[in-house]
Amino acid sequence: MSNLLEVENLRVTFPTPRGDLEVVRGISFTLGRERLGIVGESGSGKSMTGRSILQLIRAPGRVTADKLVFDGVDLLKQSERQMRAIRGARISMVMQDPKFSLNPVMTIGEQIAEALLTHQKLPRREVNARVLTMLESVRIADPERVAKLYPHEVSGGMGQRVMIAMMLIPEPDLLIADEPTSALDVSVQAQVLDIIDELVKRKGMGLIFISHDLNLVSSYCDRILVMNTGEVVEECKAGELMAAKHPYTRGLIASIP
Ligand code: ADP
Ligand code: MG
Repeated sequence: MSNLLEVENLRVTFPTPRGDLEVVRGISFTLGRERLGIVGESGSGKSMTGRSILQLIRAPGRVTADKLVFDGVDLLKQSERQMRAIRGARISMVMQDPKFSLNPVMTIGEQIAEALLTHQKLPRREVNARVLTMLESVRIADPERVAKLYPHEVSGGMGQRVMIAMMLIPEPDLLIADEPTSALDVSVQAQVLDIIDELVKRKGMGLIFISHDLNLVSSYCDRILVMNTGEVVEECKAGELMAAKHPYTRGLIASIP
């Protein structure tokens, strides 16, 4: 099976008055059409890893790698315009805080409608009904009301569900989900994971699932990377995680309540 994503010696660096601070320190991994979990404590570099794949590290932060290839495309050699096209259609990212990803001056319904018109060739008259279906698909019970709200008017959990609906509209080849369910209660979390799973199975989408929740990642993903201070300290199949030997991973396992 060919790889969807190949990452070699990926580094993210921020300049500081005392020299460069490397927050992702030369990590390597490959991803097929599978669910890859990235776990580690807060500050270990998980979000920076996800964002760097999409070239979403703000200056003066820098991304370097020996290889960063998505489905044959060298992501390090794309112009900002080319990256925007890839981000909109082939790789989607659900950010940790949905408030930064939704457009504050458009209603939720308008944003979903725009995404539908851009990515799915729908007749305009069908768009409104599809907006409501998309909201229902992420278990929003009163889609008509929610469609009329602005992002600041919904809770974090609701915003996260809206983001997931939006990110799945292009049916991307790769979804990078950064703590996508951390603001959701457990039953909604399970439903949202089912929706993502459906695309992994039906479309062969690859998934990078970033989470601090070791239990969740080991039950949901196929393979796992454990990160600590910017490095990958463990790479294993999900079923092998609980038997992991690295002291850092053992510590994480021991701290599960
Ligand atoms: P995680 O998602 O695993 O909690 P992050 O990837 O967000 O961790 O952050 C990794 C490290 O990078 C953290 O120590 C964080 O403080 C640092 N960091 C994040 N953004 C910046 C920035 N703009 N400048 C300097 N350091 C940063
Ligand atoms: Mg994070």
